[in-house]
Amino acid sequence: MDLCDLSGKVAVVTGGNGGIGLGMARGLAEAGAAVVVAARNRDKSAEAVAELEGRGARALAVEVEVTSEASCRALVQTTLAELGRLDILVNNAGTNLRKQPQEYALAEWHRILETNLTSAFMCCQAAYPAMVKAGAGKIINIGSMMSIFGASFTAPYAATKGGMVQLTRALACAWAKDNIQVNAVLPGWIDTALTVQGRRDIPGLEERVVARTPAGRWGHPDDFAGIAVFLAGPGSDFVTGTAIPVDGGYSVQG
Ligand code: NDP
Repeated sequence: MDLCDLSGKVAVVTGGNGGIGLGMARGLAEAGAAVVVAARNRDKSAEAVAELEGRGARALAVEVEVTSEASCRALVQTTLAELGRLDILVNNAGTNLRKQPQEYALAEWHRILETNLTSAFMCCQAAYPAMVKAGAGKIINIGSMMSIFGASFTAPYAATKGGMVQLTRALACAWAKDNIQVNAVLPGWIDTALTVQGRRDIPGLEERVVARTPAGRWGHPDDFAGIAVFLAGPGSDFVTGTAIPVDGGYSVQG
């Protein structure tokens, strides 16, 4: 058995039009999966689809607003209508807003919770019947170093990313009987649109990350291709409920 072969499989990657999501989408596509790039920005999604198709993959852009239950359900319905199945769901869409806890408006708290955490729950619920029907499924939830550490400037984000790990564990327990494996990936500090502003705003962040990371560098979106293929493929059939750091050693540095 080729443990990296995803031919015939269909993957949905929320936030798959850039950053870590696109890094994962590239890995899944190269392993043979058809990939649905699910995000809001049509131009970015069209570009990502063209890139994946250029690598010989089948790819499709589906516009989704992950804070809307109807939109998450429509994403799954469109995937099934266009590609016939849904085997792999990557819950990667996310956002952040850096402030001290006392400065957040309640609406900001809710927006971050809905975008990062409630969205994953809604997409999992929407995808579940198709996975049960197929007799198998793989769900990959994107956490963060904020799933395990705290920081003064990121209270709602940290709450969502801690919640993502617990959601992963609960779904893994519930759906193991359906042969659905649910795992989380915890990225370290990765060079993407989400961290560009932080690198500008937080003095010394750029250097502190490099100094603390045993690998001695920031991560790149393509560092996520391998873990996506492993957690989406037959090599991880007995792996469920885990939260795997992909961080160049950041979380184990003493
Ligand atoms: P990006 O900003 O590049 O990616 C975020 C993605 O989410 C975009 O594709 C965006 O697409 C999509 N998205 C955001 N809000 C919504 C929404 N409401 N509906 C649909 N799609 C949405 O950042 P990253 O690649 O860095 O982030 C990806 C994930 O990785 C996030 O969950 C983030 O928390 C996590 N992460 C990132 C780290 C890092 O260092 N970069 C570290 C740890 C975790 P569009 O705008 O087109 O909708």
